[in-house]
Amino acid sequence: MQLGQQSIVVVMVVVFASSLLISAGLLLGLRASAAGRLWAAGHLLLSAGGLGFAANAAAAGKPAFAALAAGLYALGKLIIYRGVRVHQGLPVRARMRGPVSAVFAFAAIAALTSPEALVRAQQGFCALFAVLSAMTLLLLARGRLGRSEIGLPLAMLACAVQLAVQLYGIAISSDPAASVAPFYAAGVDRSLVLASLVAVLLGLFGYTVMALEQVIANKEHGARIDGLTGLLNRAALDESAATLISSALRHRQALTCLVIDVDHFKQVNDLSGHRAGDAVLQAIAEALDNSRRASDVAGRYGGEEFCVLCPHTDEQQATALARRILRKVRAIPLPGAAGAFASVSIGIAQLRQESGADTHSLWMQLFGHADCALYEAKRQGRDRYLVASTLMPESGSEAEPAAMPVAMVADQPGT
Ligand code: GH3
Ligand code: MG
Ligand code: MG
Repeated sequence: MQLGQQSIVVVMVVVFASSLLISAGLLLGLRASAAGRLWAAGHLLLSAGGLGFAANAAAAGKPAFAALAAGLYALGKLIIYRGVRVHQGLPVRARMRGPVSAVFAFAAIAALTSPEALVRAQQGFCALFAVLSAMTLLLLARGRLGRSEIGLPLAMLACAVQLAVQLYGIAISSDPAASVAPFYAAGVDRSLVLASLVAVLLGLFGYTVMALEQVIANKEHGARIDGLTGLLNRAALDESAATLISSALRHRQALTCLVIDVDHFKQVNDLSGHRAGDAVLQAIAEALDNSRRASDVAGRYGGEEFCVLCPHTDEQQATALARRILRKVRAIPLPGAAGAFASVSIGIAQLRQESGADTHSLWMQLFGHADCALYEAKRQGRDRYLVASTLMPESGSEAEPAAMPVAMVADQPGT
């Protein structure tokens, strides 16, 4: 497709003016996302650079304009690249002064020297844009794609199109017969230039969606996490329990629940204050988290009560976890009392594979059994675990209750 010089300038002005206004709005709109702010700022500069390109094309090649525009464009791309690093949690070099000064120095030299130097400068800028696009594309490709995320593929597509056009720009401007006008203003097939303009808008859209997806994911994550301990909160635990119970019933696999309560915790608060109590709760939560397997789900059920759900684990196997937890918690010193250490009591219950019952009732039943065992562990002296099935005969079973000790105090040697 051949477009006239004027048409291409008009299209450039429309696209870059739109993206400039949109990115200015997004600077405010994406305040909640550090990466989003950088992407909006990057697109703002890039769009200003694009408007400079359009003005340059309209004025048939004003070197100073072209160089300044290219400098702004490159700076915008650098900031977008930095935003991708922030989004992926990668370290960001605090100083951008070096590359930014190099870009502007390059632009100034090109502006002040001969038209031939400008052609070389155009090649240099195209190469710089291509390097920045390639670096950004490689970094984006390392990002993990969530199930329903569309921002990342859109940003990657936009980046790939820009890279292709920039490589094309290098090829065109390395022609010795190339005019001093920028390649998009020279008499070449400009469909690729249009593709590049569409890619700018697509990129702005893709990065904005990425930022919004991250804000939403952070909010969802925050709504599931207990603020004090970093474990799942009660609502998230209930949700996980429903999923794990359904899966355990479907695959006829064991699922065991541990309910854990801190012993005499009120005394910790009374003696050392709530802040110190909070620190003990955090240390106990950390001990739980470090004791569980990756597939286990740990949460704070409320107050000083925790719960761990262990899929593929029967209650006998879960006693090993209980012993680990008891051991780790006993190493947590209590504030305000020299030589005193924390302790917890643990009730353990295994899911009963009852047909017909809904997952909510099964969860309530499972938690209730573990809670009964916990209550009994408290009654028997605390700092121990107790298995619920040792308290009650199996429902529907004619067998006698298992002839094993009811309480299992876990400070025997080797535990
Ligand atoms: P027991 O061994 O029978 O469990 O005794 P306890 O003192 O641990 O149990 P009780 O239920 O009497 O007291 C629980 C205490 O936990 C009372 C409450 O102030 C404290 N608590 C609950 N949530 C928090 C919290 O988020 N931070 C702090 N610091 N304390 C909390
Ligand atoms: Mg307690
Ligand atoms: Mg309690």
